[in-house]
Amino acid sequence: MPGFPRLKDAYDLVILGGGHAGLQAGLKCAMLNHSACVIDRGPKYSRSYYAPKMDNIPGFPDGISGHELLDRQILQVRAVDPAVGLFSPARVTGARRLEPSGYRVEFDWLGQKREVTGRALVLALGVVDRILEVGGSIQPIFPWANFGIVDFCVFCDGHTLAGKTVAVLGHDAFAALTALDLGHFGVKAVEILTHGRPLLGEAAPAERDELLRKLSEAGVTSFEEAVVGFDGIREKRFGVTFAGGSTRTYDKGFSALGWFDMHDAIPRSLGTTFDPDGYVVTDEDCRALGAGARPIPGLYCVGDLRNGWNQIPEAWATAERAVLHAYSYYL
Ligand SMILES: Cc1cc2nc3c(=O)[nH]c(=O)nc-3n(C[C@H](O)[C@H](O)[C@H](O)COP(=O)(O)OP(=O)(O)OC[C@H]3O[C@@H](n4cnc5c(N)ncnc54)[C@H](O)[C@@H]3O)c2cc1C
Repeated sequence: MPGFPRLKDAYDLVILGGGHAGLQAGLKCAMLNHSACVIDRGPKYSRSYYAPKMDNIPGFPDGISGHELLDRQILQVRAVDPAVGLFSPARVTGARRLEPSGYRVEFDWLGQKREVTGRALVLALGVVDRILEVGGSIQPIFPWANFGIVDFCVFCDGHTLAGKTVAVLGHDAFAALTALDLGHFGVKAVEILTHGRPLLGEAAPAERDELLRKLSEAGVTSFEEAVVGFDGIREKRFGVTFAGGSTRTYDKGFSALGWFDMHDAIPRSLGTTFDPDGYVVTDEDCRALGAGARPIPGLYCVGDLRNGWNQIPEAWATAERAVLHAYSYYL
């Protein structure tokens, strides 16, 4: 069992978030013979922690769970301690730019407030999915999500849906577009469950008409009653009970509720800009862009938080690009 890492005052790189992107950034930094401090709340806050089987990870022909992949990355980073200190569970509370260069980061670790300085800073905080609330709680759907009966990402799980009946959870344009997108994967039938909200109720009239027409053409149905519970876990099915007492059963659920938290507070405090979907805008070296689309010196953003695709190979690639750029220009 490794002991606690020892916190130094200063590192070459400070990395906020130790999911797939942050861990890879730390590892790359060690390989370039520089030091890094990775500050992470813990694996259960990574998006992939609840992914039971991922099929696009090279080297795993039978798939691998997000949980296990994170464990493997953590072991790899622990192996390069002390070049890289992985501080977890620890929560970043603030960051500021220093003059003439570098960043100072505040975080809570082991019940104490800590500070650390880096010559460059990598934002790898990820984003958090919105989960369907039933009876004021997000817990009821967890077992179905943990067994992979409810999916969250078309790119990750669309290929598993061929020939299946699917309930899309959501009520807005994103839900409608997701339902239409699933047609590409050869699903048997798609129904949108709006959970008590009018389908496309907040969309502009022209957009609503267009989407309703496309849904009708694609044979996508919808049901607007509020969801009050789930069933069918033993049969590996997605059974849904509605407020009126009726039930419907599908092969799969698919969450299309968007994001609960885009982790924008720290990037915003450092002057980053955001795209219309709320992601941090970066250039191809993953430098965070500020006012006038100018790179903010020494600041990078990688993984899901950055404007790009929310996928693990992308998280790794952006981490590598950011650290290689930082190595050349700041370290
Ligand atoms: C159900 C599901 C299935 C998926 N399946 C696949 C798949 O099959 N293939 C694929 O490629 N991708 C898949 N993904 C997407 C994949 O999980 C993400 O693209 C990936 O996790 C992004 O990595 P990241 O490091 O950017 O963010 P994350 O892995 O989410 O890590 C962010 C980290 O930041 C930390 N953090 C956040 N705030 C703070 C703070 N204030 N202080 C300290 N630490 C903080 C968290 O603890 C977390 O560990 C799936 C996602 C979900 C939800």
